Order: sequence, then C-alpha cells, then structure tokens
Amino acid sequence: MSESFQNVSNEQVGEKSAAAFARAKEAMPGGVNSPVRAFRAVGGTPPFIARGNGAYLYDIDGRRYIDYLLSWGPLIAGHAHPLVVEAVTKQAQRGTSFGAPTEIETELAEEIKRAYPSMELVRMVNSGTEATMSALRLARGYTGRSRVVKFTGCYHGHADSFLIRAGSGVATFGLPDSPGVPSAMAELTLTVPYNDIDHLRMVFEQYGEEIAAVIIEPVAGNMGLVLPQGGFLQAVRELTRAYETVLIFDEVMTGFRVSYGGAQERFGIDPDLTTLGKVIGGGMPVGAYGGKREIMELVAPDGPIYQAGTLSGNPLAMAAGLATLKLLQTEGTYERLEAVAKRVSTGFVEAGMRAGFSVQAHAIGAMFGNFFAAEPIVDYESAKQANVQLYSAYFHEMLSRGIYFAPSQLEAGFVSLAHTDLQVDETLEAMDDVMQELRRRMR
Ligand SMILES: *Cc1c(COP(=O)(O)O)cnc(C)c1O
Repeated sequence: MSESFQNVSNEQVGEKSAAAFARAKEAMPGGVNSPVRAFRAVGGTPPFIARGNGAYLYDIDGRRYIDYLLSWGPLIAGHAHPLVVEAVTKQAQRGTSFGAPTEIETELAEEIKRAYPSMELVRMVNSGTEATMSALRLARGYTGRSRVVKFTGCYHGHADSFLIRAGSGVATFGLPDSPGVPSAMAELTLTVPYNDIDHLRMVFEQYGEEIAAVIIEPVAGNMGLVLPQGGFLQAVRELTRAYETVLIFDEVMTGFRVSYGGAQERFGIDPDLTTLGKVIGGGMPVGAYGGKREIMELVAPDGPIYQAGTLSGNPLAMAAGLATLKLLQTEGTYERLEAVAKRVSTGFVEAGMRAGFSVQAHAIGAMFGNFFAAEPIVDYESAKQANVQLYSAYFHEMLSRGIYFAPSQLEAGFVSLAHTDLQVDETLEAMDDVMQELRRRMR
C-alpha cells in the first residue's frame, strides 16, 4: 500500500516549481527558509508560489489552490486583503522603519490589551520564537527559578529551551531534539504529556519550588489540532498559582483565531503571561508578549531583564496587524469562521467513513485538524499513531485537485474570512473523490 501511495507525488508538481526547487537547494539548506516548507513529511516537491488572492494560492506553473494553510496561520483575512494591502502601502510611503517610537505601535498594543485583559503591558517583537524566548527569560528573572515545564508535542518556536523531546517517567529531563542545544540547557526543561494533569501534579510535587514557568498551547496546534479536555486548563492554572509558577499561554497560533480574545477568553483562564504572533502581524513578521504589570515592569528599560529589537514594532507590520484585527471585529466573524472550519472537519470525517477509513477530526474557531486514526487524539502519543502514509497520499491527491492542506498530519489547518461556501463545497467534493480513489488503490 505504501509504495503505490508514495510514487505519485513527484510527477504532480509543475515543471517550473521542480526547477525552482532544484535551484533553491543550491542556495539554501533544503531549498527553504523553514524546514516544513520542503514537504519532507509527505514527500515530493513543494509548488513554488507566485501570488495569493483571498482563499486562493497560485503557483509559478499557473496552478490554483484553495489554501487551508494560510502561511501557517497568520492570514486570517485571506491573501492580499485590499484593506491590509492599503494599510501597508500607505505606511510604506511614509517610511518602513524608524527605530524610534511611533503611535501605531501603541495603537496595536492597546487593541491587544482590550482583547486580552490579562496583558496589562505588551512588548512587540518580530516572531513567535522571540516572544516565547523572551517570556521565558522574564519568568525566570521574575521568579529567580530556572526550570520550565512544557507539554510534549507543543511547539513554542526554535529557542533552545523549547526544542525538547518527550520521554517516559515521572519527570522527564528533556533531551534536546536538535544537536546544538546544550544538554545543560535541555535539562532545565521538563516535559509532560498534554491533557495529563496527574503527571503535571507529580512533576510539581517533585520540582515545584524550582519551576519558573509552565508554558502551554491552550489549544494545541502543532501536533495537528488537539483540544484541551474539560477542566485541564483550569487545573494547570490552579497548580501554577499554588506553586507561584508563572503560567505562560502561548497563543501565537490561537490568538485572534479560536476567538478574538484567544483561548484564554474562550476557556475563561487568566494566565500570567501570553505570547502572540501570526494573526497579529497580518502576514508580516510580528510577535508580542505581555501580561501582568508586576511581571512586565521587570522588562528593560523599566526593569533589569534585557530584551530588544532593531525592527521590533515595525510600522509596516503594525499596520498590517491593525488592519487585520479591524476586519475581525465585525459581528458574527468567529461564528462564521468556526462554521467553515467545522464543515471542513466534518466533511473529512464523512468522506473518510464513506470510504471505510478510520478518521478523527477536531475544529475550533478558525482552526481544524484531520487525522487518519482509529483512536481519539488527546496528546502527542495518540497523534503520532495516525497513519502517515495514508495522509501523504491524501495530501498529494488533494493538492493535485487544487486543495492545499498542511504538508503533515501533525499540523493544523486554517480557514479565513475569504473562504466561501462554494470553495468549501468544492473541497468536500474533492475529499470524497480522493477518499474513494485511495480506497480503490488499497484493494
Ligand atoms: C508558530 C508558533 C510559534 C513560533 O512562531 P514563529 O513566528 O514561527 O517563530 C510559537 N508558538 C506557537 C504556538 C506557534 O504556533
């Protein structure tokens, strides 16, 4: 089964993309500037993109795709939304960077504060990685402690402390996922399975007084989409409060996506620090971290904890972010986004079941996760049980029919304001067709 599934991939990409990829590989590691873009999890060659418009993506071979990846989350308004383009263009005409205070930074910070009352002060940075890295330094500085707890399968950017693999045992001392992460650094990171509050409690019983921070994706979107089980986030909040550990909600993906006020609004949790990125930049490079005044006041220049950035609060990025957030403020936006995301995930389950496959799907806000798996997906272990070969075949068949999903089952899918019911209809028809085709090939 796996052979017939895999051999289809390379023939499908256009000639120009294939040539562009070959050329790119001579100039950049793997031909890309971020590893997942190289399609290693599904095999084959990535189409090279020429432009995007609304929910559509166009490659350099002239092929059109309905895009359910949306630059891995940021483009909740769709590609090249006229109001976002206008905001960026106007700002560009006034200058692209000043390295000096501008009013537009305050405007975006104020809008974030309004939507996230837990973020009493906000600092802009240039990526989600910078946001989580800076939040952790701050938590360590604030508590005077060194250890950090993260959940297996959660992704918090590529800083050393977060590139830590899971293991078994009560308190797994992290082993680095990547050469180059010093073990002395990795040992400070403890990992716990997602949705496993008993395990977290044991870790706290053993190391509680040494734990500076617990960082969590309150809805996990980097092992596919995995939802927090009832009471889990509340229990994490109670434990961290009891041990005076800083609770960091990493809402780089979920912020302004599972609802305007993120997962913290949706689940009614008050974290100490929050990290944002993706949507708040509207497709430009932005991250932000913020939280309780008492903690944030320790950040330089108010306090001793250093963190800086030549391009932080970049006016072009602030303009794109503000324009995007304005578009999201229309009444009914999140109901509409969630209805679209649910149609895609329900459609996947129905098409999969009709073809006799074991499938699982989740959706919340403008995110969804589709898995070829028999058992419910609640953590990284169960997510990894999903059938990789089947997903690869499905992915390539969908791509060849003009539907662009994440090039790995362990990534979330996204919808935007631009996705229409007709485009979703087309997607569901393609899903049905592909599932039947895969079933035929397995005979
Ligand atoms: C994408 C992501 C990051 C990293 O953001 P970058 O902008 O890619 O550095 C961090 N945390 C979460 C939850 C993310 O989804």
